[in-house]
Amino acid sequence: MIKITLPDGSVREYAPGTTSLDIAKSISEGLARKVLAASVNGIVSDLSMPIQIDSSLKLLTWDDTEAKSTFWHSSAHLMAEAIQAEFPHAKFWVGPAVDRGFYYDVDLGEAKMTEDELGILEKRMNEFAKQNNAFVKKMMPKAEAVSYFTDKNDEYKLDLLQNLNDGEISFYTQGSFTDLCRGPHIPSTGHIKAIKLTSVAGAYWKGDERNKQLTRIYGVTFPNQKELDEHLLMLEEAKKRDHRKLGKELGIFTMDDMVGQGLPLWLPNGGIVIEELEKLAKETEAAAGYKRVVTPHIAKEAMYLTSGHLPYYADSMFPPMELDGTKYYLRAMNCPHHHKVFDAEPKSYKDLPFRIAEYGTCYRYEQSGELFGLMRVRCLHMNDAHIYCSKEQFADEFRAVNEMYLKYFKIFGIDKYVMRLSLHEPSKRGQKYIDAPELWEQTEAMVRETLIESNIPFIEVQDEAAFYGPKIDVQIWSAIGREFTLATNQVDFNSGNKFKLSYTTAQNGTDVPLIIHRAPLGTHERFIGFLLEHFAGKFPTWLAPVQVKVLPISDKFMDYAITVKEALKKAGVRAELDDRNEKIGKKIRDTELMKVPYMLIIGEKEATENMVSLRRQGKGDAGTVGLTQFVGEITQEIADRILL
Ligand SMILES: [Zn+2]
Ligand SMILES: [Zn+2]
Repeated sequence: MIKITLPDGSVREYAPGTTSLDIAKSISEGLARKVLAASVNGIVSDLSMPIQIDSSLKLLTWDDTEAKSTFWHSSAHLMAEAIQAEFPHAKFWVGPAVDRGFYYDVDLGEAKMTEDELGILEKRMNEFAKQNNAFVKKMMPKAEAVSYFTDKNDEYKLDLLQNLNDGEISFYTQGSFTDLCRGPHIPSTGHIKAIKLTSVAGAYWKGDERNKQLTRIYGVTFPNQKELDEHLLMLEEAKKRDHRKLGKELGIFTMDDMVGQGLPLWLPNGGIVIEELEKLAKETEAAAGYKRVVTPHIAKEAMYLTSGHLPYYADSMFPPMELDGTKYYLRAMNCPHHHKVFDAEPKSYKDLPFRIAEYGTCYRYEQSGELFGLMRVRCLHMNDAHIYCSKEQFADEFRAVNEMYLKYFKIFGIDKYVMRLSLHEPSKRGQKYIDAPELWEQTEAMVRETLIESNIPFIEVQDEAAFYGPKIDVQIWSAIGREFTLATNQVDFNSGNKFKLSYTTAQNGTDVPLIIHRAPLGTHERFIGFLLEHFAGKFPTWLAPVQVKVLPISDKFMDYAITVKEALKKAGVRAELDDRNEKIGKKIRDTELMKVPYMLIIGEKEATENMVSLRRQGKGDAGTVGLTQFVGEITQEIADRILL
């Protein structure tokens, strides 16, 4: 018998050769109907794969990320079956799952596909899905596979075969479609109940523009119609909230070809949002015992050779500039500069934890095809800080960093978040990971314990840590349910050695500090891009570029309107006056478009009684209040950073 360990720690015994599906059935029929794939000893596998040795097993259902990508990759095969039916001469390159859905790159020969024809393919896919065809795996010797694709004159699959070794070549067949594929797949097409092909585009073979252009078809599928409907609704809402569109309408940022791709220019309204975010960060960090530093945007090659950014990270950096025979690089990260700040003066255990913060400007060379609005840029402003501490201080420091994340989430109304804890793979120590078994064990355990203690939802992933320590990626969801990777929080027990950082211990010895890298607010670029979508451009009052617009009904009340505006400005409120000779209705509509939180309507009654008539963005008339009372209320709302 073999021992199967389930995620809850329970152990069950089965005959060797039992499949994950058999095991699911032995637990419950309901589970067996729902399960899509299995993770056997950490490797995602077909449910039909026989298990021969003692193993840990996780049965994956739609709720698991790995099951979703298996489901979507299987949907790509289903789409390929439909394409083959419509275009019998089509040749297939690759069809991976992506973030939300899947695509397939296809050579249609002389034929062309347009968006209109996606419906025809969808219909075919629905037919084939209803047939509930099993995904059947078959192994094939390499020579046989090569001759199979040579006969088919399929240069694409022959290219893929080149990189595969004999004995590892597998094919999957469902219905009338067979594909060279490593798998895994869901059991059968019947699980795919809702299908939407979203777009068709050109894509160069292997992403190289010297190669032939293939047709890339994107789609998304779900196990039920309801989830597809919700997904499509979310996409529609996301289009309205597109940060590039809102960023332009609200005067937040722009791009200029003469400045360069991926180099946003922050306009005055964007400048205000940035200042408010920095003010929040500086207050929060000062309260948490951080000190502020300011460091240059460039450094000599030698520093990046020490840090290891060069040569490994060179592709992501701008090329160097040469001055007096020395190469200088624009920095892609702030860490090395901060290490030098730590090293500037001798440190003792009394100086630790040493926490230094800077809104650091970095430059990264992103491929032009990957640039996207504020989400992927070449110049970024990072909410950066580094904490240098002893091993004993680590847990408390790490906990405090997590609390800071949670505090920010509350301020911005981010209700859904997950921390993704990336751990190292012990067998790869000395190659992919620094060879420090004890430190790995200790820090990974400390990080895990702290996350459990702080009640923060997290998932663990194996073999994705940074070279020098465990990594925590923070994923957040916007108000419309779209996922963003906000920031990374890293534990580093290597840079201290590389930069020869040390401190005098209480026993008069020396030790190397542990380093925590953290950036809870990520970069201004990505975070403001996120906030634009999250708030649909309707920033909370404290963050809004213009907080109050004063709208006199006619010129007769201009003097009082100016008094109102001045009173607000004196109280530190960002107020503007609409002194155009326009009808009040138009003034209100224009202000609504700019998503200003408060409008104050000024007429006869208001002017004589020292009052203001209040309108709230998107909510309409909110009654009349005394000017002094309004100033008091709004300044309080701003000071408390209230989310309405
Ligand atoms: Zn496949
Ligand atoms: Zn860092």
